[in-house]
Amino acid sequence: MVDYQLRQREYLLEISRAMTSSLDLPSVLRMIIQYAVEMLRGQAGFIALRQEDGSFRVQASYGLHSGALPFFAPLLTGIPPWTDPVGWMIPDLETRLSMVAATLGLGLRQVVALPMVMQGELIGVIYVFRSRGGAFSANDRQVLASFADQAAIAVHNARLYQQVMEEKRLLSAIIENSADGIMILDRHCRIRVFNRALVKLTGWPAEEAIGQPCYRVLALRDRQGKDICRTRCPLMQPEGRLYVEGDIQRDGKAIAVGISYSPLYDDEGRLVSIIANVRDITAFREAEEMKSTFISIISHELKSPVALIKGYADTLRREDAHWDEKTLRESLDVIVEESDRLNQLIDNLLDASRLQAGALKLEFSYLRIDKLAEKEVEKFRTQSKEHLFAVDFPPDLPLVRGDSERLRQVLDNLLSNAIKYSPQGGLIKVGGWADEDWVYVYVSDEGIGIPKEEQERIFERFYRAESALTPRTRGAGLGLYLCKAVVEAHGGKIWVESEPGKGAKFIFKLPRV
Ligand code: ADP
Repeated sequence: MVDYQLRQREYLLEISRAMTSSLDLPSVLRMIIQYAVEMLRGQAGFIALRQEDGSFRVQASYGLHSGALPFFAPLLTGIPPWTDPVGWMIPDLETRLSMVAATLGLGLRQVVALPMVMQGELIGVIYVFRSRGGAFSANDRQVLASFADQAAIAVHNARLYQQVMEEKRLLSAIIENSADGIMILDRHCRIRVFNRALVKLTGWPAEEAIGQPCYRVLALRDRQGKDICRTRCPLMQPEGRLYVEGDIQRDGKAIAVGISYSPLYDDEGRLVSIIANVRDITAFREAEEMKSTFISIISHELKSPVALIKGYADTLRREDAHWDEKTLRESLDVIVEESDRLNQLIDNLLDASRLQAGALKLEFSYLRIDKLAEKEVEKFRTQSKEHLFAVDFPPDLPLVRGDSERLRQVLDNLLSNAIKYSPQGGLIKVGGWADEDWVYVYVSDEGIGIPKEEQERIFERFYRAESALTPRTRGAGLGLYLCKAVVEAHGGKIWVESEPGKGAKFIFKLPRV
């Protein structure tokens, strides 16, 4: 008996060792059923676990061919719930076994089945079968009960582990796929988790960033280039908001980000880790800047023509004064010119907002761009006395497919710029040529020109070159933005060739028919 108990203890010890090692649940259950059968001097046995739908399924067996297992299904029905621990038993088990044994030609005669219970719930049943010897004794049942307990713990642990792993996977997936940059720092501010959005934002590969202190990876700077991480890290200041804005550098470019930190503490109030949420706020900043530029330009651009119109109109209507014909004409000319300017500004504004909303519609037809240009030049010739105009197109310029009104608007903007930005006068030339694929049109002047570094930016919305910021050359910085949009909507391209002080040549190309 002592020997028997010793063996039982050894088996149980081995099982608990297996459970704490990295063995998987099926292997642990197999081990349990094998030892249980051996201890009870049985021939076979299995462990059936309760499924989500309430049915039971054999999960581990010993001494039985796997092909035989489905035949034991009748033993897995009629299992009562764990409501009456004292009277719990599966009815008619021996009869059912004898039928199964007869079908399979096995000599199994006795069966004992004990519940596996965890937190007051039946989670499985352990069965042991015997072909020889007497019925299972109370002692046998007690021995088996200890194995059933071990099996229940193993299943419970495995389920908990699975649950934790699933939650971890879910959390990792959420962090990894979040549109915001997320990193998790340990309490020394070393990076432990670095998600995909942050890899994209910072250009740091995750495997390189992990393990680094966060200030090395982010290296936040303020607008003046001062290191925020070292001087103003919100984590160093226990009081106040855990939020900071600054620029991170990627490929030599500054990206504005806003970072909020959430510290996590353990039950004793010790800092365990910090979750940092990093958001790209470049677009937000740009929109803010754009808004203020927009307001200042528009208010200025609207105000000056209105002031001029009102000034001249007020003067003309004075009852005590008589104006000669010349003054009258000149004043009215100013009023008309300024009204035209206002009108153009409003048109440009409307077009720009249509463009932004993606609602700029083109009406295509086949047209001769050289004829369109000649007509436009004629219109401008009468407007400026200081400038000389020339038109230079080859006689056989191919047709282009385009929206004549929109292309007229492009030429209009380029010509009025040519006049505006060559205040001392000079030659303004419009011409073109064609190659196999494209029809080219240019508008050149001999004015102030544009420095290289601004030649791309002048096509941006509201952008005005430094040299243009004089009281004489007014503008909202919308003309070229619209030109670019219209030309590109035709499948073409627009650019400028210029040197400061040596005039500018704007060229656009459209696909030839
Ligand atoms: P606006 O003329 O209203 O300022 P545009 O979009 O038409 O706006 O032009 C943007 C900027 O490009 C101008 O402010 C000016 O700095 C520059 N620019 C445009 N055309 C010329 C030109 N012909 N010569 C020199 N600078 C030009």
